[in-house]
Amino acid sequence: MSAAERLEQFRAELREASVGLAAAPTLIVITKFHPDELVRELFDAGQRHFGENRHPEARNKRSGLDEDEAVWHFVGQLQRNKVRQVARYADVLHAVDRKEIIELLETGEDIPTRDVFLQVNLTDDPGRGGVDDAGFEALAERAAESSAVRVHGVMAVAPLDETPERAHERIAAYSQRLLRILPNATSISSGMSSDWRSALRYGATHLRIGTAITGSRPDSA
Ligand SMILES: *Cc1c(COP(=O)(O)O)cnc(C)c1O
Repeated sequence: MSAAERLEQFRAELREASVGLAAAPTLIVITKFHPDELVRELFDAGQRHFGENRHPEARNKRSGLDEDEAVWHFVGQLQRNKVRQVARYADVLHAVDRKEIIELLETGEDIPTRDVFLQVNLTDDPGRGGVDDAGFEALAERAAESSAVRVHGVMAVAPLDETPERAHERIAAYSQRLLRILPNATSISSGMSSDWRSALRYGATHLRIGTAITGSRPDSA
């Protein structure tokens, strides 16, 4: 099956799973490690939201598709020395997880106000990225007062050592906490190829789908 055919099939499943939801979720196809041709194929099949997790691959992927209608999501961890570069070309940053990132965006030159998600860490391993539970409100308050970012909602990656349902329920609870600080930040970025149905049941508004649509990654690390 081609990527365009898998996209078509996924969309059909998503439509069915979305019946009764207030709004259709945004489907972001994660194209990491795949060639520009695959991005082009998906764009021609009507896909508009794309995600990448590393700089500079993300920038190159974006330049490889010369289309104003494409929206690029950076879903990887934001390293201090790359934040500003990423923010110059990525339309949406999904992994804002510390105040330092907001400060770097505020003090960088020529960086437009960016649409962002605040990433929460559902594990005890700081290396996984995401703000820890104790720091969540402080980060949200810092983001709320910044003109460098427009916070859309929370983002998380469900850990492998608990059920997707449990993880998505926890993400939904963070979303509720965020809404007390930022009432308009209603979005939830969660749900990958293996757990998107559960994510939808717990309010995901942005699905980040890789392999289910792109096929297995060529030389993924
Ligand atoms: C790669 C990636 C995905 C997509 O994962 P699949 O299991 O291939 O759907 C989603 N979110 C993030 C942050 C990723 O890095």
